[in-house]
Order: sequence, then structure tokens, then C-alpha cells
Amino acid sequence: MTEAYVTLLVTDSYAPGALVLAQRLRELGTTRDIAVMVTANVSETIRKDLRLVFDRIIDIDKLDSGQADNLALLGRPELGVTFSKLQLWQLDYDKVVFLDADVLPMRLVDELFDRPEFSAAPDAGWPDCFNSGVFVAVPNKDTYRQLCDLAASKGSFDGGDQGLLNTYFSSWSTNSSDHRLPFIYNTTPTAVYSYVPAYHVNRDNIAIAHFIGTTKPWHSPPPPSNASQDKYDLVQQWWNVYNRYYGESTT
Ligand code: UDP
Ligand code: MN
Repeated sequence: MTEAYVTLLVTDSYAPGALVLAQRLRELGTTRDIAVMVTANVSETIRKDLRLVFDRIIDIDKLDSGQADNLALLGRPELGVTFSKLQLWQLDYDKVVFLDADVLPMRLVDELFDRPEFSAAPDAGWPDCFNSGVFVAVPNKDTYRQLCDLAASKGSFDGGDQGLLNTYFSSWSTNSSDHRLPFIYNTTPTAVYSYVPAYHVNRDNIAIAHFIGTTKPWHSPPPPSNASQDKYDLVQQWWNVYNRYYGESTT
């Protein structure tokens, strides 16, 4: 049984996220492979850094949904390229836990490999849809082909991978509960709407933080130590890992 955490890098700009994610999985002591799918445009400089921490660098094609209208609705014109994510169904692993490059595991989450395909956590904006930044999948060429067919025939209602995957795995919200990951596996502190009292009561149980939206932790310096907003707790923790491996004194 070969299993892996897999992330995606379509642009150099998300490299800090991918590197911090891999360092964090490694320091938590996972027993699974840590792999990254990269497109041809990712630079050699970044590939060199990736090779130091990932077990595998997997070259994939850049797929773009080309659905400008739906992406405009989502307000994220840059996310058409997340269709590239679908290629994980072509990999030779028996099971994959996919993680966006903008997530930070707070603890070891290897128990996710006990989950069936397709498992994911609810999206904070529409909880009957899942968020596609963290999910469990079983690579299979037939599934891949069907996803490509669906992309060609119907497309994605949000222009990105999340819309397409929610259409393909539309039984997710009514499936048995083992397909529904608790929100602590994909906590989105940067969501516009958040349920602050629920955050407070669950903050110590968060397993994976996911920094959704256009502003990623690596875009701005670490938050000031007196910042009291909850989302900064998790952003600070992202920076703590970054500084451990890529901070000035370590380079
Ligand atoms: N991604 C990338 N470059 C881009 C946009 C996206 O490498 O320019 C990859 C990266 O793995 C990222 C994922 O696609 O985490 C999904 O995009 P993002 O996390 O920005 O979407 P959000 O979680 O904010 O909806
Ligand atoms: Mn993301």
C-alpha cells in the first residue's frame, strides 16, 4: 500500500506555502510519502528547494478551466489553473490525502488515510459543498477520465477544481458520515464569515489550518506579537514553521 500527501504547485508564487507544508509534515513524523505535483513553468530555483524536502516531485500538465465568467463570480480569476489538481487521479499511489499549498497541519493527521474516497470537510461559505483544499482520494484512471469528460461537457460552476469536484462527487453531502471530515481538518480562519465562539471553543483541536483567499501568510510579514485577532494565531504559527527552516539565521 503506497500512500502519500500530495500538494500542487502551478506557480512559483505559492512555493513558500508548499515548502512550509512539507517541512511541517516531515517534522510531525508522517510515515507517508510527501509529494508535489508541479507544472513545467515552475523554476529550477524553486525545484531545487522542493527536492530538499519532498520525497517526490511529479511533473504534470497545466490544465486551465478557461471559465473566466464563473471565476469572475468567485472573484478569483487566477484559479482556473487549479484544474491541474485533477491529475492526482492519475498518480500511482493507492491513496492520497490532497492538501492545498496554503494549509498548515497543526498535528499529525495520518488517520486521514483511514477515510474512504471521497472525504472532505464542508466549505465555510456553503456547507453542503465541500472545500477542495483538503480531501482524501483514491487515484484511478477511470475517475480521471470521467472528471475530464465532465470538465469538457459541463465545466465547473465556480471555474475552479472545487466546483467540478462538487458536481462529480455530488453525493458527498448525503453520503455516510465517514466521508464528511470534521471542520477541524480544514479550518479556514481567513474566511470572510467565521463563527468566532465556535472557533474559541475548538481552537486547541484544530488539526489543519487552511488560509483561503487572495492574501496568503507568505504575502505579509509575521503579525505583530500583540495582534489579538484570532486568525493571526494561526498565521503566526505558519510563520513559526517558515522561520524554523527558511528564516534569516537558518540560511
Ligand atoms: N495554486 C498555485 N498557483 C496559483 C494558484 C493556485 O500553485 O497561482 C495551487 C496551490 O496549491 C493552491 C491551490 O492551487 O493552494 C488552490 O488555490 P488557493 O489555495 O489559492 O485557493 P483558495 O484555497 O484560496 O480557494
Ligand atoms: Mn487553498
